[in-house]
Amino acid sequence: MRFQLRKCSVCHRYTLKNECLKCNNPTKLVHPAKFSPDDKYMRLRMEKNSNLDSTK
Ligand SMILES: [Zn+2]
Repeated sequence: MRFQLRKCSVCHRYTLKNECLKCNNPTKLVHPAKFSPDDKYMRLRMEKNSNLDSTK
């Protein structure tokens, strides 16, 4: 399951909701770092795993 972390620009609280629970301000998506070596290896592992799954 995928979730997207959001942040309120008013009170700077992190939430998964579209609106801040505290001040009802619309929250903005928090984007993760564009590139990290770990992501690359994780993606390779995931591709390997999906290949294994497809052969079952
Ligand atoms: Zn807020």
